Amino acid sequence: MAAALSADGQGCSALLIERSHKLGGILSQCIHSGFGLSYFGEELTGVEYAARFAEKINKSYVRVALNTSAVSMNSDKTIILSGCDGLSDVHPKAVILASGCRERPIGTLDIAGTRPSGIFTAGAAQKMINVGGYDIGDRFIILGSGDVGLIMGRQLKQSGKEIVAVIEKEDHCGGLERNRIGFFEHNDIPLWLRSTISVVHGTERICGVTVRNLETGMEWYAECDALITSVGLIPECELSEQASDGGRLPEWLFLCGNACYVHDLVDDVAIEAERLGKIAAQYVRSGMRKDDLPEARVKHSANGLFCIACPKACPLTEIENGYSGALCGRAAPVPNIVKAS
Ligand SMILES: Cc1cc2nc3c(=O)[nH]c(=O)nc-3n(C[C@H](O)[C@H](O)[C@H](O)COP(=O)(O)OP(=O)(O)OC[C@H]3O[C@@H](n4cnc5c(N)ncnc54)[C@H](O)[C@@H]3O)c2cc1C
Repeated sequence: MAAALSADGQGCSALLIERSHKLGGILSQCIHSGFGLSYFGEELTGVEYAARFAEKINKSYVRVALNTSAVSMNSDKTIILSGCDGLSDVHPKAVILASGCRERPIGTLDIAGTRPSGIFTAGAAQKMINVGGYDIGDRFIILGSGDVGLIMGRQLKQSGKEIVAVIEKEDHCGGLERNRIGFFEHNDIPLWLRSTISVVHGTERICGVTVRNLETGMEWYAECDALITSVGLIPECELSEQASDGGRLPEWLFLCGNACYVHDLVDDVAIEAERLGKIAAQYVRSGMRKDDLPEARVKHSANGLFCIACPKACPLTEIENGYSGALCGRAAPVPNIVKAS
């Protein structure tokens, strides 16, 4: 929405394609607060944040195609859409791909045992509870201590559910400090570090897991009736791979938000998307090469930090566990960061 509004504001005609029945993406299922502190200067829920942008879309010239999936994108800029009326194609001058990311499923992990019901990725659990209104269990184990797992854990705890433990393979909690404190310190939940699940137990419904300490090899059984996995997000970039030539993004394709790299904060997504919307509009109107566009060259960095991991030289913001803002996602190592003179 932010990218479309920005391109629209530059006088370009923008079509926003969304496979869901409503706009907002992952925000539509986030009923917790913590969104918008830097962009709107106030604390909003994800739903409220999305609604603000949807309202702007309604007042703009951006055309919206809901219930419509982009199923393929060719190097000749043809996009095949699948919607309520069947298949159709569009031929835009530029594409901003903001398709978000998907969750790593339990099947990608080295976990033995059965695959009974009661195992959910954190995002799926969030959607079932917050959007569908389902009651998905009573005694939860959470695998992975990233933000999504912690936020779901906190919500479950607040709704009276038991959190048996959070299991994390690293030696520290993965989430932002504010989520870590909000969850562990206020709720007295065990965090089993340097541990993982080695076996899932249960026939029809999960009844417990075997937990293994990765340093000592010691194993123990923990009972639960639901397992939430929060073990990583993967950018949805199949469409950009289809359109790419030997791994090189075509000039007319711009990656944005979690489709480019996983962002902790939606404000960073919105700010980057607005900048990309402008760059894409300049590209369409001027016919110049992407890297030569003035907007792509002029950088603004509040703290003077830039990334030199790739030639884009993205402005960076210092966050608790690294840096955010690099469009290519490789900004983390400090030696790659230079201060602008
Ligand atoms: C549980 C959770 C808690 C979070 N908490 C916070 C928080 O407290 N504060 C904060 O600032 N940020 C938070 N975030 C992060 C923030 O919400 C995200 O970084 C941001 O919303 C990502 O936006 P996006 O547009 O890149 O992706 P998404 O929101 O995932 O949107 C992608 C959209 O693309 C659509 N799409 C995908 N593929 C296609 C296709 N082929 N055709 C058509 N449509 C398609 C999807 O349906 C979706 O609507 C949280 C995220 C999660 C998951």
